[in-house]
Amino acid sequence: MGKAFDAIVVGARCAGSPTAMLLARKGYRVLVVDRATFPSDTVSTHILQPLGADALSRWGLIDRLAATGCPPIHTYSFDFGPFTIAGAPGATNTHVAYGPRRTILDKLLLDAAAESGVEIREGFSVEKVLIDEGRVVGIEGRSKQGASVVESAEVVIGADGRHSIVAEAVRPEQYNEKPPLLAGYYTYWSGLKLDGRFENYIRPHRGFAAIETHDELTMVIAGWPYAEFAENKKDIEGNYLRTIALAPAFAERLRNARREARFAGTAVPNYFRKPYGPGWALVGDAGYNRDFITAQGIVDAFHDAELCATALDESFAGARSFDDAMGAYQRARDARVLAMYELTCQLATLEPPPPEMQQLFAAIHGNQEAMDGFARTNAGTTSPAEFFAPENVAAIMAAAASGAHERGAAAGAR
Ligand SMILES: Cc1cc2nc3c(=O)[nH]c(=O)nc-3n(C[C@H](O)[C@H](O)[C@H](O)COP(=O)(O)OP(=O)(O)OC[C@H]3O[C@@H](n4cnc5c(N)ncnc54)[C@H](O)[C@@H]3O)c2cc1C
Repeated sequence: MGKAFDAIVVGARCAGSPTAMLLARKGYRVLVVDRATFPSDTVSTHILQPLGADALSRWGLIDRLAATGCPPIHTYSFDFGPFTIAGAPGATNTHVAYGPRRTILDKLLLDAAAESGVEIREGFSVEKVLIDEGRVVGIEGRSKQGASVVESAEVVIGADGRHSIVAEAVRPEQYNEKPPLLAGYYTYWSGLKLDGRFENYIRPHRGFAAIETHDELTMVIAGWPYAEFAENKKDIEGNYLRTIALAPAFAERLRNARREARFAGTAVPNYFRKPYGPGWALVGDAGYNRDFITAQGIVDAFHDAELCATALDESFAGARSFDDAMGAYQRARDARVLAMYELTCQLATLEPPPPEMQQLFAAIHGNQEAMDGFARTNAGTTSPAEFFAPENVAAIMAAAASGAHERGAAAGAR
């Protein structure tokens, strides 16, 4: 066929660069294009969960991230007002999370792709996905002042985010959809130390969270229900500060800090898309999106990159048909994220937890193993299906009833 590339990846951030890097490391000819140039920021906070750090370890990149001076996060805390649950979010291999700025993380991933042999075109906008007899065969696009360019490949991979031009062109089946549920806004503060804690504050119909990042700055995001999105846009700072005032001790710490950036934020829809078809694939937000309240987007993008690159390798190498390999990618993706998707959408409503959940939280509080299990579940290290399984819940409730946790002998799913 004389295609110039085995794969063209549209989008060079958390999903695109690792997908390209992993394919290139398997010996394939890969082109990555992005209309952005790097380093550059994007509207996203940047909690990198322990399983995301784990993926960076597998790819040989975790030391590079640590070398950027990004502080590790060893504890997640959840302040419900009357009490706080605090535990370790870590995985077996990686015990800590990070909060790297996207300017730094995305550039690090793109550089790693380049080192693996990926051809990279920054500042290149894809304007059209080329389809021939029902099969995607390439892209057409241009650099800022350049003429229109056509490139062809065996497969075009959309890693181009929620407004994916690839998804728009191929119109994939969309399922499990839920509308936007939450509006969130964030900014950066100096003089606000958290000492390795990712702090979360949960109040009825409100919530906020804080995490340390590069340059001695702390990111603080506050959110309210999507129903208030349009109205509250008129006074983002006022609503942000009123949300934080619901936790007076934190509000006092913030009064002694200094705001160093403008507010950024948005609300996002929730959906799954079929991530493959003739000549195309989707990874990251282009194929699956969930509210940001549980901060799973980056780790999900990393897992997509691994699953999709493995499936394409099997297909290119003739070990399995394209449909068979990519169907396995879709099933593995959906199975991995489904329980977390449901929990995420539930949390994003900011509805107060029902009474039985409040009783469970009270039972978890003070039981260190259960608190670690709760932190791991919120991090996505442990599946919510496992932590909230009836046997585990019963064990936590029984431990609270007997006071066993005070002797350190209660349950926390691993
Ligand atoms: C407010 C907010 C907070 C969040 N907080 C977190 C968090 O703390 N932790 C976490 O894990 N996740 C978080 N997320 C989710 C996370 O940002 C996404 O899941 C992640 O960025 C997905 O990466 P991606 O590579 O799929 O897409 P993106 O990061 O959206 O990258 C897509 C790229 O494609 C490029 N592109 C698009 N169209 C074209 C085109 N036509 N031609 C060329 N290039 C194109 C864009 O320029 C962009 O660089 C948050 C999201 C939001 C909105």
